Amino acid sequence: MLNLTGRRALITGVANHRSIAWGIAKALHDEGCVVAFTCLGATERWVRPLAESVDAAFVSICDVSDDAALDALFAQVDEAWDGLDIVVHAIAFAPLEALAGAFLDTRRDDFRAALDVSAYSLVALSQRAAPRMREGGAIVTMTYHGSQQVMPHYNVMGVAKAALECAVRYLAAELGPRGVRVNAISAGPIRTLATSAFGGFRRLLDTVQAHAPMRRNVTLDDVGRTAAFLCSDAAAAITGEVLYVDCGLSLLGAPPQDGAS
Ligand code: NAD
Repeated sequence: MLNLTGRRALITGVANHRSIAWGIAKALHDEGCVVAFTCLGATERWVRPLAESVDAAFVSICDVSDDAALDALFAQVDEAWDGLDIVVHAIAFAPLEALAGAFLDTRRDDFRAALDVSAYSLVALSQRAAPRMREGGAIVTMTYHGSQQVMPHYNVMGVAKAALECAVRYLAAELGPRGVRVNAISAGPIRTLATSAFGGFRRLLDTVQAHAPMRRNVTLDDVGRTAAFLCSDAAAAITGEVLYVDCGLSLLGAPPQDGAS
């Protein structure tokens, strides 16, 4: 329906079949897009079979905090393709201790790691992707409402997501003249590897189900279809935006109990 036939998408952040990036990859593939993946070495054995199921062009191991690994990734992009249309950034990380305690106690190294992997990596990827992207290209990243409101335990990740959303606006302003759009999706909570570390996450999902205006939780398909829309010509005039895919949850403010994504 959105017709992404012939477009090429580099997808970061698939760890397993529950990953939001996997939901996006399937949606892009369904619309005719050719996909390729990058992942951490630790997750490769789960990612490869998924990649094969959508005929991925390649799977590249890349830690986004390592510039040499990013350069090697784009060398692989150049070997496989003579241009790029879509980049999906679905990566976040913060040391567990920075999420468990008080934000006031955040250590410099943990702050640096969270901001580097969760926010700067979008800039690092865009730097390398932009010169390879064709007119009509799109970059999409994933954020969470903890960037705007204080959420229990989200802590330094909220700061990182605020930086990420601001980076989206600056990148959108600079890449707009080249015909490349940059947007973020702010998703409601979804159970994934990243959220499995959060205590009370089940209760958070139950709360969303009971109180979100649409009385249900968000699915991988919801996010995947929105990402496909943002990458398509149907969104040709949308850039620098944070699009909420949360069944209206953010309209209510912070969820009334512990939990974060
Ligand atoms: P996930 O664990 O499936 O994905 C996170 C990915 O980040 C993993 O693939 C992991 O390997 C990757 N990653 C971490 N550090 C990396 C590094 N240094 N280099 C390369 N990759 C690295 O979890 P997810 O929930 O699908 O998360 C994807 C994105 O969606 C994240 O940005 C997350 O903050 C965001 N998000 C998630 C939710 C949710 O409730 N699950 C809600 C809103 C936003």
